[in-house]
Amino acid sequence: MFFSNFRRILLKLSGEAIKGSREYGIDPKYLVYIAEEIKSAIDLGVQVAIVIGGGNIFRGLAASENGMDRVAADYTGMLATVMNSLALKDALSKVGIDSRIQTAIEMKEIAEPFILDRARSHLIKERVLIFAAGTGNPYFTTDTAALRATEIDADALFKATKVDGVYSDDPMVNASAIKYSELSYMDVLRQELHVMDSTAISLSKDNDMPIVVFDMNES
Ligand code: UDP
Repeated sequence: MFFSNFRRILLKLSGEAIKGSREYGIDPKYLVYIAEEIKSAIDLGVQVAIVIGGGNIFRGLAASENGMDRVAADYTGMLATVMNSLALKDALSKVGIDSRIQTAIEMKEIAEPFILDRARSHLIKERVLIFAAGTGNPYFTTDTAALRATEIDADALFKATKVDGVYSDDPMVNASAIKYSELSYMDVLRQELHVMDSTAISLSKDNDMPIVVFDMNES
């Protein structure tokens, strides 16, 4: 019911989200569950674009803290998001959903390059569109690819998490953490709430893009 208020959304799926109960990598069975959830949104008539993360495989910042050149590390992280996008596309096809991948770094043997007009056209044709390789720039994260929400004229950015909203503290660690039903962008920035990167929050603020934080384990 909730999704039906939206015509077009951008879903941010972190890499953590697709590793299921594994320590690392991709859980194909869990990905099919995600694909089914996406299908249920599509069945409501919602156009769905997805920005996929890569943290289940590689994070540039962590690797650079261990001595790797930051730029090389970030490109490696971006390539991890491409792996995830291929696995997600496969899961979507298993539940009968037609999808396309667009990458911010050209690799046209396996995906289309990011072309905004084509992106919009895929969505109108009810194909799920997966944005891979983030923004294509080192020193960013896939949260900052939230910019795509504005580019494709989405009604909202949906951030999938392990909890059902934004809390004053990590509710998995602190049982007395308070859940906020609604927050301004400035509240998130001022209180340094770890919803998304501060850059992504600022971008969303500047573009009046609502962010809906939800628990991806609830149907
Ligand atoms: N990355 C980048 N530029 C981008 C998007 C991603 O350099 O525009 C790199 C960065 O190293 C990041 C990694 O790709 O750590 C994986 O993305 P992210 O950490 O956002 O994945 P998530 O936390 O969503 O799983």
